[in-house]
Amino acid sequence: MRHWQDLAAQIEVWSVELGFAHVGITRLDSANQETALNAANTHFAVWLAQKRHGEMDYMARNQDLRAKPETLLAGTRTVISAALDYWPEPGVMSAISALADPTRAYVSRYALGRDYHKVVRKRLQTLASRIEAVVGAFSYRVFSDSAPVMEVEFARQNGIGWRGKHTLLLSRQGSFNFLGEIYCDLPLPASPPQAAHCGSCTKCLRACPTQAIVAPYEIDARRCISYLTIEFAGVIPEALRPAIGNRIYGCDDCQLVCPWNRDARVGAPEFAPRHALDTASLVELMAWDEADFLERFAGSPIRRIGHQRWLRNIAVALGNGKASRDALTALSARVEHPSAVVREHVGWAIRNLEKK
Ligand code: SF4
Repeated sequence: MRHWQDLAAQIEVWSVELGFAHVGITRLDSANQETALNAANTHFAVWLAQKRHGEMDYMARNQDLRAKPETLLAGTRTVISAALDYWPEPGVMSAISALADPTRAYVSRYALGRDYHKVVRKRLQTLASRIEAVVGAFSYRVFSDSAPVMEVEFARQNGIGWRGKHTLLLSRQGSFNFLGEIYCDLPLPASPPQAAHCGSCTKCLRACPTQAIVAPYEIDARRCISYLTIEFAGVIPEALRPAIGNRIYGCDDCQLVCPWNRDARVGAPEFAPRHALDTASLVELMAWDEADFLERFAGSPIRRIGHQRWLRNIAVALGNGKASRDALTALSARVEHPSAVVREHVGWAIRNLEKK
């Protein structure tokens, strides 16, 4: 029906106006789509059975909601996916320089600015309101990493990109973007998928500092630095600590080496670095007390990990760095921290530096 094709074209125009880099539409009522979604869910279930999700129990919950979108929102026929770029600077060289300086803290570039959940959802809500102004009231729900949604699979199906061997969504414009979705009951026409363009490349597998990408399209989260520094609350296995280097919140290495990210473009202004986090030293960040942490990270995704995990991560990074007086002083100030986890990592770091 012409009307729905016109609306789909208009959604693309609005998406560009709202700053989205890509938009795509998946129809849930086709046999091909159902087969593809089932295959993705089976792959996910095997991954869970292998315990590769570590302690991320929330991933194992609500599998029905993930597998059947209509159980998350009754009547859902269509998923509109959108991608919002977040990279804070042109190209990847300054990120590579930060990783190479052991006195500096490396924070995954997606987390330098505002929390993406709200930013993406707000823009998608505006998109949904514009649709509503044309078609009248319709049933919809907006998500951005906020519910069990097969977001990469939908974005693969509707041509926003393909799944890279590092498991993230990737397009010819790179992988530095957040995904969000609108589930809705509108019979919009599906967007075609695009071919994968990883070819024989294996750079991301070889670049992973902890060999967490155990095979193409297979990640063992328990080894992944993003998991260890963000999701995991306990004592980081000693064998993995040296490979963490100066990465105190997340890791971008598999994406930094990807040829499709070589000319990374600057993303939405909300994701610009705050509190000079992109240039901060480890010593300076270790000095923040809990009140500083909570105040400075209001509206940041980093706040979620809490001050103790933050200190734990910085202790590991300091222990991996040079044995300077400043580093030892910063660590010594935390040897009596009330958290046993923090004390354990601080002790490890001091012993490491004393050996250097
Ligand atoms: S580094 Fe190579 S294999 Fe990995 S996602 Fe990029 S193109 Fe694909």
